[in-house]
Amino acid sequence: MPSLNTTPSSNAEVMRKVWEIIERYQGTCNSMDDEDRDWLEGNDMCDYFDGELFECEMCGWWYETCEQADDVTHMQMCEGCHDEEE
Ligand SMILES: [Zn+2]
Repeated sequence: MPSLNTTPSSNAEVMRKVWEIIERYQGTCNSMDDEDRDWLEGNDMCDYFDGELFECEMCGWWYETCEQADDVTHMQMCEGCHDEEE
């Protein structure tokens, strides 16, 4: 018997799943399911997820991090909400 891989899932599987989650939220205003949050935490992928998507604290929509208003440091805000603030 070859020794079994002790990690719960292979890297490729984890990457596929994290992108599945990212694509499921991107462009929606769904709050994150506990199940998805638990999965990200369990697989140490919270930072990766946060590096790709953020939830605007003003409108509650998920955006790619490149769409985050960059001169706002105290909260995560999309450019649309940021423009309305001015
Ligand atoms: Zn917003």
